Amino acid sequence: MQLYDAHCHPQASLHNPVVLNGTCPEDWAQILKLANQKSQIIPAIGLHPWQVNDAPDDWQASFLQQIAEAKAVGEIGLDQWIDGHQLERQQAAFCWQLQQAAQRNMPVSIHCLKASDPLLRILKTQSAPKRGIHLHAYSGSAEQVRSFTALGAYFSFHAGQLHPKAKKAPAAVRAVPSDRLLIESDAPDTIQNTVSYGEFLQHGYQRVAELRGLTVETLAEQVAANFARYFLDD
Ligand SMILES: [Zn+2]
Repeated sequence: MQLYDAHCHPQASLHNPVVLNGTCPEDWAQILKLANQKSQIIPAIGLHPWQVNDAPDDWQASFLQQIAEAKAVGEIGLDQWIDGHQLERQQAAFCWQLQQAAQRNMPVSIHCLKASDPLLRILKTQSAPKRGIHLHAYSGSAEQVRSFTALGAYFSFHAGQLHPKAKKAPAAVRAVPSDRLLIESDAPDTIQNTVSYGEFLQHGYQRVAELRGLTVETLAEQVAANFARYFLDD
């Protein structure tokens, strides 16, 4: 059984199929190099909303130089949770990168924290990749799952969002259509040292399987099909 990881960052153990996301121009070359070394890595480059204020002036030129080698755009997005956020600057960077992905029909991995409404506004008015979009570590409500699904969204969750006392993410997990569901690790920052990467990813599959009343095997088959359709189809 293969466990597909829809959103991860560079870290030590990468054996399974994984989308490896960059966050700023400084790590894009490393992502592309790792993907050259390991065929199961899908390289994504993007300017993360937390990096927008500190990005070098020529980040778009770097992006355009390297995008041909990447297989996805990410991690990009909007975040009104972080201190000092400047939504307008985030939106400008996000919309430009979304447009680049749309022009190439590339998968796009989106971070959205406390910004569902501005994100929905953008998705309703701007062109997005024909294959749809991917909302990583989805933190919106179960109701908003419907709005995002209508706009072509796939949704992924990691074990850290699904601890036994959590309420919002589990409700969202149950609301996602089975052909739009993905699992991720968002490693390494999500993982505490007592747990390995493989255990953490597997734990995410176990929790989502429990919440949806499925065996891990059945869930893994669904997720593998969704992952292939979204990230691997031309
Ligand atoms: Zn991430």
